[in-house]
Amino acid sequence: MSHVFPRHTKAVLPTVAAGDGCYLTDTAGKRYLDACGGAAVSCLGHTPRPVIDAVKSQLDRVAYAHTSFFTSEPAEELADHLIARAPEGIGRVYFVSGGSEATESAIKLARQFFTEQGEGARRHVIARWQSYHGNTLGALAAGGNRWRRAQFQPLLTGAMHHIAPCHYWRWGEPGESPEAYGLRVADELEAKILELGPETVAAFIAEPVVGATMGAVPAVPGYFKRIREICDRYGVLLILDEVMCGMGRTGYLFACEADGISPDIVCIAKGLGAGVQPIGAMLCSDEIYRRIEEGSGFFQHGHTYLGHPAACAGSLAVMREIEQNDLLARVRQTGDKLQAALEAAFGQHWAVGDIRGRGLFRGIELVADKETKAPFDSGLGIAAKIKKAAFANGLMVYPMGGTVDGQNGDHILIAPPFILEEAQIAEIIDKLGPAMESALASARAA
Ligand code: PMP
Repeated sequence: MSHVFPRHTKAVLPTVAAGDGCYLTDTAGKRYLDACGGAAVSCLGHTPRPVIDAVKSQLDRVAYAHTSFFTSEPAEELADHLIARAPEGIGRVYFVSGGSEATESAIKLARQFFTEQGEGARRHVIARWQSYHGNTLGALAAGGNRWRRAQFQPLLTGAMHHIAPCHYWRWGEPGESPEAYGLRVADELEAKILELGPETVAAFIAEPVVGATMGAVPAVPGYFKRIREICDRYGVLLILDEVMCGMGRTGYLFACEADGISPDIVCIAKGLGAGVQPIGAMLCSDEIYRRIEEGSGFFQHGHTYLGHPAACAGSLAVMREIEQNDLLARVRQTGDKLQAALEAAFGQHWAVGDIRGRGLFRGIELVADKETKAPFDSGLGIAAKIKKAAFANGLMVYPMGGTVDGQNGDHILIAPPFILEEAQIAEIIDKLGPAMESALASARAA
C-alpha cells in the first residue's frame, strides 16, 4: 500500500521512470509525449543536460545557505540576468520556491510599500474572476477560480475584490470591437477603485495571459495599457502574475512585453526552473525597493528556501539555454505552427468554440453549442475525460473543467517544451483527436 497522499485519492497512477526530451517513460516502459510540460513547467524538456550539470556542480560546492546569513553567486548572477531583461523600472529580484510563494510575497510587498509611508489604509487588492494566483490561502483569496475557492469559504481575507476578466471571444457583446470591449472591462478597475475608495486600494493583480482557469487567454490589444493608466491615476500598484505565462512561454521572456506595459511587481516561476529545481521569483520596481530601504529596511516576509543556491544555479543555466539556442524565436515560430495545426484539425469541430494563445501556450475551449457558446454541463467532466483518454494514448495535456458557476467552459491547455519538433505537433493532433472524440461521445450520449 502506498503512503503517498495523492492529488486524487482514487487515481491509480503509473510510476514515472525516466525523461528524455519531450517524453516521459513509466516503469512499465510506456512513453508519453508531454504536451503540457506538466503544468507549463518543463520548458526545456525532461533532460536539459546543461541545467542538470549546473545544479550538480552547485551541489558539489554548496547546496544551501540561509539568506539571513549569505547571498550566493548563482542568486546574484541570476538576478543580474533577469533584471537586464526585465520590463522597464524593475530593479530587484526576490527568489522563492514556487508560484504561490511569489504571489503571496507580491501582495505582502504591495501592502508593506504603503504601510512604510503611513498609508496603511491601502489594504485592498483587486483581482479578476477566472484567474489563478496559487493555492495558499492569500493567493487563493486573490485568485478568481470559483471552483478552487468554493470549499474554503470564507477565505482568510476581506480585502480581496474581483472584476471581470478579459476574454473577448466569450464575453464581448455582439457588434462590440475587441478594443471597445477591452476598454470597457478595464474600466471596471476604475469603478472598483472608486467604489472602495482610492486611498484604500494597494494593488491590482492579473495574469497577462490567463492560464489554468481560462486556458491561454491573452487580453485584447489596449486592455493592459488602460489598466496601467488607471493604476497610475490612483497610485495603485500593478502586479502581473507571469508564473505560468512568463519566462519564454509566450515567445517573450516576460509576457507583458507583448502588451507594451511595465508592472510594478511581476511574479515568475514554472519555466524559470524548467522543473529541474523548484524556484519562483518576485521582481519589483526600484521605487518599491527604495521605499523599503529608506523605511524599515526590512521586508517583513521570508521563507526557509529563499534564493536556494542550487535552484538559482539551475535557473541561470535555463536562462542561458534559452538565449544560446534562440528559443524565444523558436517558441514564436513553433507556436504559430501549432496554432495553425490545431485550427486545421479541430477548427471546424462541432464542440470546439475557440483555439487561442500566444507562443507555445495554447488553449482549446470546448462548447456544447457553438452558436450560443454554452459550455458543457460541468458534471460531464469533459476536460478530465479528454486528459484521461489522451494519457492512455501516450499524450499529456492539461485540462480544466468548467468552473462551478458554469461561467466558462471546459478547456485543454497545451504548453509543450520549447524544443518541440514539427513531427511532435502531428503527434499531438493524432492523439488528441481520438481522445476528444471518446470524451465527447459521453456528452452526446448524455
Ligand atoms: N499563478 C499562476 C498564474 C499559476 O498558473 C500558478 C500555478 N498553476 C500559480 C500562481 C501557483 O504556482 P505554484 O503551484 O508553483 O504555487
